[in-house]
Amino acid sequence: MNVFKRKVVRNYLAVRRRDLSANPDYHKVQQDKLRALLKDAAAHSVFQRERLTDIERYSDIPPTDKVSMMDRFLDTLNERLLQEFGLTKEEVWDFVQKANTKSSPWLRRDQVRLARTSGTTGQPGFFLGVVEESLIQRSVSLARSGMYRMPLLSLVPGIRKQRIAMVGGGRENSLSGSSFINNLAREKLSRLLDMRSFSSYQEPEVLVSQLNDFKPHQITAYPPYLVKLAEIKLQGYEFHFAPKRLALGADLLSKQDRDKLVEAFPGARIRNHYGSIETSPIALSCSYGTLHVNMDFVIVEAVDDSDGPVEPGQWSDAILVTDLTRRLHPVIRYRMGDSIRILTEGCPCGSRLPAMEIRSRRIRKLYFDDNLGQEQEILSTELMDKVMYDTVLPWCRMEYHQRNRFRFVFNVPAFPLPSMLCTVEDIRRHLTPIFDDFMRKHGCTDSVSFEICTIPEPPPKADNLKRREVEVRVASKH
Ligand SMILES: [Zn+2]
Repeated sequence: MNVFKRKVVRNYLAVRRRDLSANPDYHKVQQDKLRALLKDAAAHSVFQRERLTDIERYSDIPPTDKVSMMDRFLDTLNERLLQEFGLTKEEVWDFVQKANTKSSPWLRRDQVRLARTSGTTGQPGFFLGVVEESLIQRSVSLARSGMYRMPLLSLVPGIRKQRIAMVGGGRENSLSGSSFINNLAREKLSRLLDMRSFSSYQEPEVLVSQLNDFKPHQITAYPPYLVKLAEIKLQGYEFHFAPKRLALGADLLSKQDRDKLVEAFPGARIRNHYGSIETSPIALSCSYGTLHVNMDFVIVEAVDDSDGPVEPGQWSDAILVTDLTRRLHPVIRYRMGDSIRILTEGCPCGSRLPAMEIRSRRIRKLYFDDNLGQEQEILSTELMDKVMYDTVLPWCRMEYHQRNRFRFVFNVPAFPLPSMLCTVEDIRRHLTPIFDDFMRKHGCTDSVSFEICTIPEPPPKADNLKRREVEVRVASKH
């Protein structure tokens, strides 16, 4: 067995041992790791030292976010570790400047690599990680969610290559839930897995026939896409495969939707994974579908808009996360725009790790009436992808407060790029055919309308700088 695999197994066993012991003291493990992390960060990172000096309690550490960290990127790094890897700040900066989606992520082959966060956020983020750290993160996933035994399984001779279908929306098929798998791919382990993306915006026959050709062992998708697929199957479309696993991108999955998945794909294991590029896996679901916080690897605080604590059971406006594993590029009380709630009741699985839920801010269901007065249902992203495509505008909020009436609020910067649409009239001219075409496909030629307005700056803390926001106040009639 090579060193890489041996380390994964060792860490895996350590996590398993803790989980299986009669009375694991996760809190103590967390606090011990936190003390060591803060000491190291204060000693060796300029940025963290400023935040941590004269701080008595953890909760007094001023929160930070991606923008603040990127503004002072080099100061946020641990200088001692940089030295240990023989890296200078100039070298790191040069590497970051040149990084693009096609370049190698490795600053030091098999030791230090650069991860880039992108997706829906306007501000790209760069995070330096050490392989040792990602081994630990991987072990947590392996130990606490049956899902990730799969890549290891593929190592056994004679077992077929596992096929994973990633089902998403249109052009921006970003699936943070599959970042673990993406990482694997980057590390040239892709020969073990065959991954393919599918757009759920196609006609059901087309999508089903593509999936039938591929015959995936696993389907990875955000819940709304997966539920849509389940509905297609329940409508009677024939699927010539039975996925063994359904992996979700950690959005909220209602009981009703979960039942639908179980009905459509009997026997498939449903696994939810909540994490981010910046942190270790924040939460993984147990066999009851409950997300359990990996509190011995991360600290998660549910907070309101002013970063004050939110009571257990209440939905938060954001979260503050500390990663207890990251040392080279520490992430401490780092704000992310997800809305979660920590559950007060225990889970039947018996885990002592706290249970939580996450609320989707990304994808909502929209209901409107077609020309015949029949209710139509779409996913917010279907319309939003069309609306944002080609406008080159930095930020947009789709407001759906009144039935059959959409309002798009665009941020047109004071000094727009030459390619940007600048006035309400420009945007209307661009959007009208796109919107009309979209609605025609849903049988709405004159029942649904939209209006546009522009603002010079996105609102402060606009959903953690997500480029798109959706605000829906119209419910289904049924
Ligand atoms: Zn559980």
